[in-house]
Amino acid sequence: MSSQASVPSGHFFLPGPTEVRPEVSAAQTRQMIGHRGEAIRDLIAEIEGGLKRVFLTERPVVISTSSATGLMEAGVRNGVGAGRVLSLVNGAFSERFSRISLDCGHETDVWDVEWGLAHDSDELAERLAGGGYDAVTLSQSETSTGALQNLVAIAGVLSDHPETMLLVDSVTGVGGVEVRTDEWALDFVVTGSQKALALPPGLAFGVASEAMMERSRIAERKGFYFDLIPLFESLEKLETPATPAISLMYALQVQLSRMKQEGIENRWARHADMQRRTIDWVDSLQDRGLDVGVFAAEGHRSPTVSCLTMPGGHGGLAVVAEMLERGWVIGAGYGRLEDSTIRIGHMGDHTLDELNDLLAVLGEVLT
Ligand SMILES: *Cc1c(COP(=O)(O)O)cnc(C)c1O
Repeated sequence: MSSQASVPSGHFFLPGPTEVRPEVSAAQTRQMIGHRGEAIRDLIAEIEGGLKRVFLTERPVVISTSSATGLMEAGVRNGVGAGRVLSLVNGAFSERFSRISLDCGHETDVWDVEWGLAHDSDELAERLAGGGYDAVTLSQSETSTGALQNLVAIAGVLSDHPETMLLVDSVTGVGGVEVRTDEWALDFVVTGSQKALALPPGLAFGVASEAMMERSRIAERKGFYFDLIPLFESLEKLETPATPAISLMYALQVQLSRMKQEGIENRWARHADMQRRTIDWVDSLQDRGLDVGVFAAEGHRSPTVSCLTMPGGHGGLAVVAEMLERGWVIGAGYGRLEDSTIRIGHMGDHTLDELNDLLAVLGEVLT
């Protein structure tokens, strides 16, 4: 076995794109419908109901035909006026968010912490005290390191700063990690189809608060494709401004009904179980004297992805290759962690049983 595309069902643990169940994939072969008219309106109405249950929001959920990075850029373009941006950076994706802000021409203060750590909300309060920030950017679940931000605590700090938009990259969050968009008063939350939602890549979803929409109304140079005003206005008519990825929306429709059956809180619990299992497994290897570790700091670990440090003599890339030989896909480390770590994307529709099988094989490779 040496091709990722040929591993058996239940064996694909890449931290994005994640494994897609056959019935979800199959929905994409349905015939086209026009992107204006009753058929698409029925489809979008049903999808909106499902997405609201996933984001826990009463607000409309933008459906963007782009990868998630597109909506991260939308967050910056719509959420920032003439003020500054504070970017919380603790890995490659949160760093990308800061780069988007810089590339959009905004004065951006990058608050770096060591990769694998999360940001402290008390220090955030101090940094925001002087005012002047239009937005804060962060990645809730930093897929490059497996670190999880304490989003509810950070949102609590932002509640004292109504002029500052909280822009949340929740790409490996929503659908796998607790996210309560309305209750936590998040201004902009973004996810992509190909992570914890376990769909093929190509769609992104976002929710904007009323304050975010007000900011968008006065923001300048928003560009065309990612201007939230027309995106929302179209959504009110159950349409999209441009032709959406209709086949992916068919898959989404099926997946949302599967997710409704599971229930969002059960889905979070399943991901928490898979994370706990992974960490317990690392502990048990350590007890047997093997120098394997969890990269992200204790107490700040994501339920959807674990980044593991490799014992001496085991390069991460070789471990990934050996797993593929045995018919399993896991992720290499990201960026500068490429060979010193591996990543397990225990997210989407994976079960604890599938994860147990994976860990058994990984244990053989590492010992
Ligand atoms: C995958 C990922 C992204 C980028 O998503 P694309 O869909 O590839 O644009 C951004 N942030 C995080 C945390 C991710 O895991």
